Amino acid sequence: MATYDYDLFVIGAGSGGVRASRIAAGHGARVAVAEEHRIGGTCVIRGCVPKKLLVYGSHFAEELQDAANYGWTVEGMRFDWAVLRDTVLRDVDRLETAYTATLDNNQVEHFASRATITGPHGVKLASGEAFSAKYILVATGAWPVMPEFPGNEHCITSNEVFHLPELPKRVVIQGAGYIAMEFAGIFNALGSHVTVVNRSDVILRGYDEALRDRLLQITMARGIEYKFNCPITRVEKQADGRLLVTAGKQDPLPADVVLIATGRAPNTAGLGLEAAGIELGPKGEIPVDDYSKTSCDSIYAVGDVTDRVQLTPIAIREGHAFADTVFGDTPRSTAYDCVPSAVFSQPPLAAVGLTEGQARNRFGNIKVYSSDFRPMKNVFAERHERGLYKLVVDAGSDRILGIHMIGPDAPEILQAAAIAVRAGLKKADFDATVALHPSMAEELVLMR
Ligand code: NDP
Repeated sequence: MATYDYDLFVIGAGSGGVRASRIAAGHGARVAVAEEHRIGGTCVIRGCVPKKLLVYGSHFAEELQDAANYGWTVEGMRFDWAVLRDTVLRDVDRLETAYTATLDNNQVEHFASRATITGPHGVKLASGEAFSAKYILVATGAWPVMPEFPGNEHCITSNEVFHLPELPKRVVIQGAGYIAMEFAGIFNALGSHVTVVNRSDVILRGYDEALRDRLLQITMARGIEYKFNCPITRVEKQADGRLLVTAGKQDPLPADVVLIATGRAPNTAGLGLEAAGIELGPKGEIPVDDYSKTSCDSIYAVGDVTDRVQLTPIAIREGHAFADTVFGDTPRSTAYDCVPSAVFSQPPLAAVGLTEGQARNRFGNIKVYSSDFRPMKNVFAERHERGLYKLVVDAGSDRILGIHMIGPDAPEILQAAAIAVRAGLKKADFDATVALHPSMAEELVLMR
């Protein structure tokens, strides 16, 4: 029988890779992981976590503004970007230490190095050191796409945005997806002038149309400008260091920072997958089966690198299922049909299940219930922003097919409601549930 240096060699210590390593080690496997950047990956180091902290930090602007009607006078209010930035980066350091401790506590050996595949059971570190492993897991994630145009070297992506030396006065953001809408909200709240430019005329493609319209309305009223059907064609750096952005037929837009948020591509370049006979998919992703196995029996892949659903909890589930399948004797796959998601825009938006359009196409006869309301805290603060909740229901069976929400705390509320959708509960179950008053969430059980 062949002997290997490790039972499992994981490439990439992000959400999927760390979970798979820990669970496989718990099943008794000898595990090593190589990470070329920092342990924790996109979510912890330059994604979900620092982004959410910036959302919290910027949200104080709204709270402080609304505080007056609640009797508070806040004198000498000022914001210091360097304080928020450095506190967030310190928290990222803390989490990286915690993730590293998780690997250590589970006897997972880790190498701070890039690793490439040399064959079905072989990996090589940048130093030239080579190892064999019974199984290899690729969990290298994805990387921001930078479109080609003159001057793109003056632009930044979500990788750099957490490190800005100062708060920009004017920000131009290309793209209108998750990252664009979240950072538009952060910078707008912190006082920057924000212009969102997109190649099409939609924001947050894939989300319910009524919610997207509501977000557009509210954010425009808050001062965010939108330029649609005009991708950036050129960025010039002027003598004073400021940037001039040409997008479509618009007059050039001045900017201190240009943030490009046009999607993330699987991190597969130069990984050596061809040495194991693995061919990439059209977006550079690694094709896998339901159990995350590639076309090579000893090589698996999880997370963004497979481009199934680019969300941290999905990478974690895939990593866990892989470890249980291969090392825990419990074959498990991941279900993708009822994945809740949220955009931490201001206000935030959250959804689970089918949109109205998808449900109509798939089920034909559907009912849509909605509640368009002004949250009590907004009324009191004279903030004219309305929330909107929608339930999409199969008219035949009364089953809830989708829930879509925009308004304060929508993601917090939706996580609990997603359990009901996942469990196949009916509209009648919502109707039979007593409202929790006064709350925004009670709207969910009061739609008739
Ligand atoms: P998204 O896919 O969300 O949005 C991409 C945006 O860029 C769209 O508006 C799209 O326009 C536009 N675009 C795409 N390609 C080009 C191009 N070549 N030139 C110009 N514009 C282009 O990507 P993000 O970068 O915002 O986020 C990447 C992924 O990260 C998300 O898909 C999500 O899975 C994950 N993420 C999740 C978050 C969360 O869960 N809250 C937060 C942040 C990221 P159009 O729609 O008009 O085609």
